[in-house]
Amino acid sequence: MTRSARAVTNWARNITYTADEFHRPASPDALRALVADSARVRVLGSGHSFNRIADPGAGGVLLSVAGLPPVIDVDTTARTVRVGGGVRYAELARTVHAQGLALANMASLPHISVAGSVATGTHGSGVGNGPLASAVREVELITADGGTLRIARGDARFDGAVTSLGALGVVTALTLDLEPAYEVEQHVFTELPLDGLEYETVAASAYSVSLFTDWRAPGFRQVWLKRRTDQAPVDFPWAEPAAGAMHPVPGMPAVNCTEQGGVPGPWHERLPHFRAEFTPSSGSELQSEYLLPRADALVALRALDAIREALAEVVLTCEVRTVAADTQWLSPAYGRDSVALHFTWIEDAAAVLPVVRAVEAALGTLDARPHWGKVFEMPSAVVKERLPRLADFRALAAELDPAGKFANEFVREILS
Ligand SMILES: Cc1cc2nc3c(=O)[nH]c(=O)nc-3n(C[C@H](O)[C@H](O)[C@H](O)COP(=O)(O)OP(=O)(O)OC[C@H]3O[C@@H](n4cnc5c(N)ncnc54)[C@H](O)[C@@H]3O)c2cc1C
Repeated sequence: MTRSARAVTNWARNITYTADEFHRPASPDALRALVADSARVRVLGSGHSFNRIADPGAGGVLLSVAGLPPVIDVDTTARTVRVGGGVRYAELARTVHAQGLALANMASLPHISVAGSVATGTHGSGVGNGPLASAVREVELITADGGTLRIARGDARFDGAVTSLGALGVVTALTLDLEPAYEVEQHVFTELPLDGLEYETVAASAYSVSLFTDWRAPGFRQVWLKRRTDQAPVDFPWAEPAAGAMHPVPGMPAVNCTEQGGVPGPWHERLPHFRAEFTPSSGSELQSEYLLPRADALVALRALDAIREALAEVVLTCEVRTVAADTQWLSPAYGRDSVALHFTWIEDAAAVLPVVRAVEAALGTLDARPHWGKVFEMPSAVVKERLPRLADFRALAAELDPAGKFANEFVREILS
């Protein structure tokens, strides 16, 4: 299928892609030919990023691999799955679970493509859980000349190849680590004070922990604990259990969310906050997120508390999560256990962007790295200073894509 990319938008509808053509090839051969014959190409995953990361720009080709046969090959002996480049987590998780296996973690929603998620360093929460890319053991790419390249864990290029911003080629498949299926209970608590918060203890109080606040009052409105039933029982003396099911965005229906109330259920129906069949989050929003050293979590939270009134004007909800250190060179969690400060904003960019800049100023000296898929205003020179392995990534991109076929303005800002 080919049509103008000018009619294609991202999920949030704040980005309309400026490419001249949009293609959705139905076979690997058609995909290979398209890549070989095009001067500039970007792949669109499920379009859940909030910035121009996927946009090839005028004269370029936007392509989706969602029309290729949806490969999900589970190897129950090796405990791995080979998943096609267009497959989303919801579909992957159901298939894997049916074989008695599981992923280690998921993001807040299962609607996103696996390839697009790992390309941007997408993560869930948990002091022991790295970003979703940490499950990847092999990447299969179509490179600029239309050839196929596999890069597996252990290859010197691997740590550049997964969280690659789509700049190395078209990811046609990924092989992921699995583990035996497990059950999770989700417990929600309300009103956790910031004063006296023992963040390290709270963050480690379950397999995955999220704190939510709208900044309209001090402290956190909700705490979500995702407890694996094969781990210690919940012991959370710092806040009261919620009276009923809740949505992290005030006013949104809790029916959109995965089951709470401590009811055990399959990992993939508890680790995401939002159910696959429902709109995730608010649906009318922008998002930003910054990752910084977890040891600085309290300093960062106090810095945000100091601009609480400005935040409260434009925040729908703010989520605080943890991400274990990653080895992917461009990962916002590279080399350090991180706290992730996420903002779901109202969809009014003119009102939101000054507050995004205020957040970046408030986090000024804390070495915050932006989430690649979200809205940020930080100058590229600052972003680049905060990526200790950028030179390695540049060298890899120059080796695999010397003419910059897979670069766009967003990527060139980082690679130049
Ligand atoms: C409601 C909502 C909730 C979210 N929750 C979370 C969360 O919990 N945690 C978190 O970390 N993030 C979260 N995000 C952000 C989201 O996970 C990222 O934006 C992610 O990249 C989305 O995946 P996608 O497939 O939609 O990628 P896209 O936005 O389509 O693309 C992202 C990048 O991946 C590249 N890409 C995609 N597919 C391929 C491929 N096959 N080959 C090569 N390159 C490819 C694109 O070129 C682009 O550079 C959320 C977003 C939304 C809208």
